[in-house]
Amino acid sequence: MQKVSQLYEGKAKKVYSTEDPEVYIVSYKDDATAFNGLKKGTIAGKGVVNNRMSNFMFKLLEKQGVPTHYIEELNDRETAVKKVTIVPLEVIVRNTAAGSFSKRLGVEEGKPLLTPVLEFCYKDDALGDPLVNDYHILALGIATREELDTIAAMTFQVNQVMLDFFRSVGVDLIDFKIEFGKTSDGQIILADEISPDTCRFWDVNTHEKLDKDRFRRDLGGVEDAYAEMMRRIGLA
Ligand code: UDP
Repeated sequence: MQKVSQLYEGKAKKVYSTEDPEVYIVSYKDDATAFNGLKKGTIAGKGVVNNRMSNFMFKLLEKQGVPTHYIEELNDRETAVKKVTIVPLEVIVRNTAAGSFSKRLGVEEGKPLLTPVLEFCYKDDALGDPLVNDYHILALGIATREELDTIAAMTFQVNQVMLDFFRSVGVDLIDFKIEFGKTSDGQIILADEISPDTCRFWDVNTHEKLDKDRFRRDLGGVEDAYAEMMRRIGLA
């Protein structure tokens, strides 16, 4: 599988076309941003962690029946994926209060939620990815009712698989963000990445943060936290 031309460069990844019109290659960078791009930096080795961890999670989810864009890991930073059109929604699940949820609703970080909370944000950097609900999504034609039902069902399944897996390696899955894509034949599949950039991971016993909050909040030890997550899942 060879890269033909760069199609897109995002904050953390580049996307390339290949000779196969249905296959793209994603390349993970060490660049880190937070607060809608206001904070910029580098996390050494992050691209490798995010690539390998995402692929590990996608394979685990595929085994549990969740369709994903994953095809083949090409090297430490690059992966062949199915070509999709990204549904412009950040799909967020929260198991424990943290981050913007805690701020918006005045709930202490770390408070367990009685049921998982599903949120959607409309992916638009200029607008700062505003929170939207089903009505906004249907009214604006961002997704159909059927697509949204598929996305919600798949998302709760992803949450259950991830909760169980991370708990087994001593990590509490506080919340996470995933994205879905639509294949040329209209199938909704899990796309983008699953990594310490897109999930909040807390050590079950010490509640130590093992994710991008170490970068967002200048807590130090960012690289060590990403490396620790690799060890926990058995990839290092
Ligand atoms: N998240 C993400 N990309 C974003 C915004 C959030 O991956 O652009 C993830 C974030 O890592 C966390 C979850 O989504 O696991 C919920 O984030 P929150 O809304 O609390 O926003 P934050 O506090 O990160 O601004």
